[in-house]
Amino acid sequence: MLYTCVCGYVGMMWLRETKICNVLIIAGMGALRVPGGICVCELVEHSEDAECMYLVQVGDVAGVGCFTDSCRSCEECKEGDENLCTGAGGMHGTYGSERPEEQHPGGVTQGGYSGDIVVDQNYVIKVPENMHVAAAAPLLCAGITCYSPFMNHGIKAGQNLGIVGLGGLGHMAVKIGAAMGCNVTVITRDESKRELALSFGAKNVIISTDKAQMDAAAKTLHFIYNSIAFAHDIHQYLDLLKSNGTIIMVGGVPQGAMPAGSFSLIPRNLRVAGSLIGGIKQTQEMIDFCSKHNIVCSIEMIEATPEAVEIAWKRTVASDVKFRFVIDTKATLPKLA
Ligand SMILES: [Zn+2]
Repeated sequence: MLYTCVCGYVGMMWLRETKICNVLIIAGMGALRVPGGICVCELVEHSEDAECMYLVQVGDVAGVGCFTDSCRSCEECKEGDENLCTGAGGMHGTYGSERPEEQHPGGVTQGGYSGDIVVDQNYVIKVPENMHVAAAAPLLCAGITCYSPFMNHGIKAGQNLGIVGLGGLGHMAVKIGAAMGCNVTVITRDESKRELALSFGAKNVIISTDKAQMDAAAKTLHFIYNSIAFAHDIHQYLDLLKSNGTIIMVGGVPQGAMPAGSFSLIPRNLRVAGSLIGGIKQTQEMIDFCSKHNIVCSIEMIEATPEAVEIAWKRTVASDVKFRFVIDTKATLPKLA
């Protein structure tokens, strides 16, 4: 294992587990569950199946995203949308997914906070050789969470793309949207993020609490990528959309906490859509796109120790990170003997 990521969703899992089970989960240190989704590793061994055609060869850097298997036979899997698998058990999360004991000791997938990981060849991503490996790791979560809806909704060069929130997801959406040739506008409450947004490729920044700025931008955007992960009123963002515009929701907002009456949508043919990571083929496409455009995640590196990971989770949940924590597993945990 080389590097593993900390993301907000993992942080939420940690909060939920600690609250319900009253168990502090510490990565790979003998606690109840070992979370940690996306990771990158050096491939050290293949199975001895001569029939297999491996995308990743021994010595290559392999990426493992948010899931490590799916049913492979449902309509979604056959279409390459393994992330949406509707078969038995759905997609098998890289951590915390209940699986047979004989395949996964403890009856649950054990995540990437570990020295090694075993993954089916059909569920790994080849990390391009020219990429900064540590900064590439979060692309397998944050990167695909931006790239997938952009592709699925047909976002095109020259269109006006609004990004709400400039955190782990939002900053990637700015970089990827700008590389796709979109006119990117960042919508934030925080004036201090203006320079950062522009440095990532945004052409405009709107301060959402400034009514004059919001009014001036009304009906100007084709798409809005909304990465806010707490209860909020989306009406003010709907007003920024052109007719037939789409707002894509990727942040975890609690049920009932996102009010928008249908009359906010009906008169102007507006759409509200959700999106969850992406399939394996699209994830490979995303990392190849990012490699071509020199896009990586902006990261803070930490050690793979319980203390460092706990601080990172707390800071992630408090949105105090620029912009993703990456755990330096390679430097801290022992490799496969
Ligand atoms: Zn399936």
